[in-house]
Amino acid sequence: MSDQQGLLRSLPAVDRVLREEPLQKLTGRLPQKMLTEAVQQAVADLRCKLLAGECVPEKALDPAQVAADAADYCQPYLQPSLRKVINATGTLLHTNLGRAPLAKEALQGIQTVAEGYSTLEIDMKSGQRGHRYSHVTRWLTQLTGAEDALVVNNNAGAVLLVLTALGKGSEAIVSRGELVEIGGAFRIPEVMEAGGVKLREVGASNRTHLRDYENAISDETKILLKVHTSNYRIIGFTSDVSAAELKPLAVAKNLILMEDLGSGMLIDLTHFGLPYEPTVAETVKAGVDVVTFSGDKLLGGPQAGIVVGKKQYLQKIGRHPLARALRIDKLTLAALESTLQIYLQPEQLIERLPIFQMFSAQPQQQKLRCGKLMARLQVERLPIELTLIEDFTQVGGGSMPQVQLPGWALEIKLPEGSVDALARRLRGFIPAVVPRVQNDSLIVNLRAVAPEEEILLAQLLITAIGGEG
Ligand SMILES: *Cc1c(COP(=O)(O)O)cnc(C)c1O
Repeated sequence: MSDQQGLLRSLPAVDRVLREEPLQKLTGRLPQKMLTEAVQQAVADLRCKLLAGECVPEKALDPAQVAADAADYCQPYLQPSLRKVINATGTLLHTNLGRAPLAKEALQGIQTVAEGYSTLEIDMKSGQRGHRYSHVTRWLTQLTGAEDALVVNNNAGAVLLVLTALGKGSEAIVSRGELVEIGGAFRIPEVMEAGGVKLREVGASNRTHLRDYENAISDETKILLKVHTSNYRIIGFTSDVSAAELKPLAVAKNLILMEDLGSGMLIDLTHFGLPYEPTVAETVKAGVDVVTFSGDKLLGGPQAGIVVGKKQYLQKIGRHPLARALRIDKLTLAALESTLQIYLQPEQLIERLPIFQMFSAQPQQQKLRCGKLMARLQVERLPIELTLIEDFTQVGGGSMPQVQLPGWALEIKLPEGSVDALARRLRGFIPAVVPRVQNDSLIVNLRAVAPEEEILLAQLLITAIGGEG
């Protein structure tokens, strides 16, 4: 007891610790208040340990050691929190890693608009006030065949906006097989509730028929809503009613036909070996009045919620106060316009849009890249086991869950030491490296790694593995 009290008394004073070198080096790089708080935290941690009866070596109470601990607390503040990641998971639209990487043209668009002033909301012919959507409307109508278009912050926002603007106070009919939940608490029933729209569920989870919709229509019904089941598939004994089949019913009953497409393909991706999903243009052609989709899923652009459809509805949606609350910013708009322009020349998509390059990469080509990475690591004679393995990855972002893109990866096994610790070291780098940890090994998949990142990735892996204690 008296021993512990003696130790408690020997905890160093904050001022004393602040004069030590590790913290002196940080003076001028971080505010003094932050350094003081870090020292207070380090001292408080020691006090807690002592009070809990933990064995604390005397050296830990040394002011220089406490200063080093406090400097460790400060480390996260010395680098930006939002920083570059080399995505070695193989998942292309990794939502946690920012989904689609942008095209060079989109980056230029952002730079041009960010640097100074722009034509954001000015009509250059008349000099009068213009509209921010106008910059993408003409490309979107061109690419989808819709009468009109607008864009907001993201697709979740777009769905909320459309339902609120067109359906508040009334009822929308949705198939039970389409009551989707997207990661991050976006659930169709809850979005409808937030929009003040009453949900009328019809059919069963696996089967819904046209007559189910028909029988559910009441005086309160205003919208027939279709939701693309982007992130799951119901297989087996199933049937659903397509938008084209619903169209005559919507017309006869004077209802708005709306579809949330999720990813929203602007072109048919079966050319690239992906399964068939209706394109936005086909959906519009089938007679859907209002279609929503994301800008940063398979479209390969920035985060955005795109709404296309009949002018009469789009104008009503655009005038709703929520449209202002969810409005898209000028940088995103610049990136989206540049991305859409690439689609005007579909034959150039693979060359110009990173996401297309990545999902169309052939297994043989990937094997070659992984082999090159393996060779770079092998010459270092590190204490690791390297194997080229066949590796299947996902598109990600809740898109095409049934698709397993075939390819290759490098498996790294550590005879000693923990893979988790290695993964943690890799995450600490600038840029951070994020591979997959799977059954005690590290899987490095290069599908989502840009060719120009390869050398740096090898260097970071070597440093991280060499750092194994
Ligand atoms: C992804 C998705 C959303 C949400 O889109 P965000 O752009 O991520 O907001 C909504 N509906 C469906 C069907 C989706 O797949």
